[in-house]
Amino acid sequence: MERIIDTTIPCEQFFVEGALRKQIASSCGIKPQNLHYKILRKSIDARKRPTFCLKVLISDKPIEKTPIKRNYQDVSNAERVIVVGAGPCGLFAALKLIEEGFKPIIIERGKPVSERKKDIAIIARNQELNEESNWCFGEGGAGTFSDGKLFTRSTKKGNINDILETFVYHGADENILVESHPHIGTDKLSRIIKNIRGTILKCGGEYHFSTKVVDFIVKNDIIYGVKTSDNTSIEAKAVILATGHSARDIYYLFAEKGWAIEAKPFAMGVRVEHSQELINTSQYHNKELASLLPPASYSLVHNEKNRGVFSFCMCPGGMIIPASTERQTLVVNGMSASNRGSAFANSGIVVSVSPQDVKEYSKQPALSLMKFQQECEQKMYIQNQVAPAQRISDFIRNKSSHNIGATSYPSGLYACNMNDYLPNFVAENLKAGFKVFDRRIKGFISSSATMIGLESRTSSPVRILRDKESLQHPQISMLFPCGEGAGYAGGITSSAIDGVNAAEKISQILK
Ligand SMILES: Cc1cc2nc3c(=O)[nH]c(=O)nc-3n(C[C@H](O)[C@H](O)[C@H](O)COP(=O)(O)OP(=O)(O)OC[C@H]3O[C@@H](n4cnc5c(N)ncnc54)[C@H](O)[C@@H]3O)c2cc1C
Repeated sequence: MERIIDTTIPCEQFFVEGALRKQIASSCGIKPQNLHYKILRKSIDARKRPTFCLKVLISDKPIEKTPIKRNYQDVSNAERVIVVGAGPCGLFAALKLIEEGFKPIIIERGKPVSERKKDIAIIARNQELNEESNWCFGEGGAGTFSDGKLFTRSTKKGNINDILETFVYHGADENILVESHPHIGTDKLSRIIKNIRGTILKCGGEYHFSTKVVDFIVKNDIIYGVKTSDNTSIEAKAVILATGHSARDIYYLFAEKGWAIEAKPFAMGVRVEHSQELINTSQYHNKELASLLPPASYSLVHNEKNRGVFSFCMCPGGMIIPASTERQTLVVNGMSASNRGSAFANSGIVVSVSPQDVKEYSKQPALSLMKFQQECEQKMYIQNQVAPAQRISDFIRNKSSHNIGATSYPSGLYACNMNDYLPNFVAENLKAGFKVFDRRIKGFISSSATMIGLESRTSSPVRILRDKESLQHPQISMLFPCGEGAGYAGGITSSAIDGVNAAEKISQILK
């Protein structure tokens, strides 16, 4: 008989051969040699003595493996649906459209993954930024060369497990189905994104790379297709707009057409970097154990006079990278490989920003936060991808740093006083947050801790409105704004869920 139990085991015990089997067997009255078990869920509680919290399926008979099945059918001659953007939202929408019997026509301004890799290497070497092929634009969107954490709080919006299984179906390690904070890593993501392309092409879907959507074909407030940068019109029954939060031209296009958009609060700050060893010691309280466990992460939140200061997209064993999409601007973000093997831990530490903070941009209220974001990124610009940086201890004392310690950032740093580069309210709230975080992680403020700017692409500063039920734009029928760029998701998994929801809605309408 099969049943599911919850159990905990100290981390050091977990690594002793046979210890978990023995513990489970004695708690459920099965002889250890007759016990069959499968860990369904695994998390670490590191508050005191680091302990694994497990959900385990147990049985006295062998547990059969259930293969992941998908109904990817031939849609070569099926009804066409345009998907603008090949990020997680667009790709998962396309896969769902195929399952629902529609032919996805994917239009992507950037290049396929392998070609995009070359452009990224050029950016990392501090040479010129390709505005159409970079860390945010290209096959797989901002999700390809990302950290690949698949954790989301959007549990009510859709089936997270379905998204994770689709990743596994396309080559991700099965442990993402078990870990409470699943992580893929950029090296594996590139391969998975190529495999997804394989599925879509095999079923008869289409990809148009290096093709930017510059306008929409609309008659009587119904969308019939898109116009692209190479002067082509592509027609279809519906358009999923999944262009991500960095496609500023799309927001400008909506504003120009008078189509409903609004300013959406977002967050801005810096990337901070510490040695991974410091974070491990602080979180696991035990050096020896740290060598057995994955590099430790943290999640920090502080409320300073009703304004949030919080950690964002923490990357254990990762690196800080230049993530701008426009020349003469500087944006940073964080990523890691699957082994999280670097000696550094980085995280965005950001301050919430709302329309009340940017009243000077109120002439175009819907774009006010985006313009503020863009101007802050321009102020950070020094030369190509060289990023302004400071030792955190100097920042607190408002004293320029004259040099910076070891860092993972590949493209060069400019030691300065970040107080001169950041908007005042951002700098002051960061200081308040850092002081609180230093009480939680000893050494958070120190001369070997570095802050690098600007972390500004945390989420979309604009929301493209849509009807809650039909997911269509309120003025334009059959236009489905979705994913992070439309303001309905944040992160890989929630963007993928939003794409799936849009595809299912289209299927309900068209079938
Ligand atoms: C370095 C980095 C690390 C990250 N790490 C994580 C992480 O660990 N976990 C996590 O959950 N999230 C992470 N994120 C965020 C995550 O990648 C995004 O939330 C997610 O990719 C959003 O998905 P999306 O499909 O909505 O948009 P995007 O991924 O931004 O994709 C949009 C796509 O649309 C294309 N496009 C834009 N405009 C046009 C146009 N006019 N015509 C045609 N194509 C267009 C773009 O080229 C792009 O490929 C990270 C992001 C970065 C940059």
